[in-house]
Amino acid sequence: MKANPEASIDRQLHPDDLILITGAGGFIGGALTRYFHDLGYTRIRAVDRKPLPEWYQRVPGVECLSMDLSEKENAIRAAAGAVEVYNLAADMGGMGFIEHFRVECLRSVLINAHLTEAAWRAGVRRYFFSSSACAYNTDLQRDPHVRALRESDAYPAMAERGYGWEKLISEMFCQEYWAERGLETHIARFHNIYGPNGTWFGGREKAPAAMCRKVIEAADIGNMTIDIWGDGTQTRSFCFIDDCVLGIDRIMHCDRLIATPVNLGSSELISINDLVTMVEEIAGIKLKRTYSPDAPKGVAGRNSDNTFIQSVLGWEPCTPLRAGMEKTYTWIRQQYADRKAGKRVVKD
Ligand code: NAD
Repeated sequence: MKANPEASIDRQLHPDDLILITGAGGFIGGALTRYFHDLGYTRIRAVDRKPLPEWYQRVPGVECLSMDLSEKENAIRAAAGAVEVYNLAADMGGMGFIEHFRVECLRSVLINAHLTEAAWRAGVRRYFFSSSACAYNTDLQRDPHVRALRESDAYPAMAERGYGWEKLISEMFCQEYWAERGLETHIARFHNIYGPNGTWFGGREKAPAAMCRKVIEAADIGNMTIDIWGDGTQTRSFCFIDDCVLGIDRIMHCDRLIATPVNLGSSELISINDLVTMVEEIAGIKLKRTYSPDAPKGVAGRNSDNTFIQSVLGWEPCTPLRAGMEKTYTWIRQQYADRKAGKRVVKD
């Protein structure tokens, strides 16, 4: 086994125990697959609905299967023999996607319903579910100067329509499979994960990637203008992908976090206007701003309260936004140039 960047994590895993990662053709699942591979785990099964050539990352030596996990038989096939399951599969995207395709978002409930059952029947030791800050009560997020969200703020429930409710009910599946059937589940509520190797164009991209692309595009086309959804005062925190995969590993292997949803996000709050300024500074240009008040913009403000994760793990995501955005910008700039040159790039 290679040196563990987090030697303190006691996984009680043998290097050739089978790890199942779903949604592995996507952004976070792909990064998690690479993470475990690089740690020296030799049997990883990566599953995604997308055809293999469309996966964002293909990690050498990993068993890659293209299957729709909303089908029961496929979930059973995927979970067979697994010691740990990481469910990162969901039909999702940025605000534009989750506001317009609520049925698709809701139907992801089928993936988790079949996978928890299949995992339990297969005798899986630990099961991870990727929930979201969209599970929180939207009434608490009407102000850009929002109080950071604590884990208890999901109830009384008033989640984001479609996507947020799917996350909430899937969390409950995980909690009840533990309470009634003894399947050890772990649940993280992600807050806006960003970084290289994610969607950056096509409609499913999130704000950080969209801003990088728009700035690069404005400079390339020469119109020097950027369009911002909403009035730009909406606030968010953004969590870098390296912190996210490390956080998943830590949460999954913590006995105090069984069936207990925990925030996995940064607490560095920023407005969308300031995020644009940050990307302009990284690019070394200044753009004229236009605003689309009717475009999807989500809640007015959302931040992650990290008191709980700190108290349990003594850790929280810590990559400064500026450092993560520089890496993301550099990667998207290369993708943009490759695409323009007719090369294959990560696509939606
Ligand atoms: P992503 O879209 O890049 O990856 C999700 C993958 O799931 C895709 O590759 C997709 O093809 C796959 N998928 C969808 N339906 C499937 C099905 N029926 N069977 C098999 N595969 C299927 O998204 P991501 O950003 O990597 O998100 C991973 C998980 O984290 C999701 O559960 C998402 O809801 C959650 N999450 C992400 C963020 C974020 O900011 N990226 C925030 C909150 C929660």
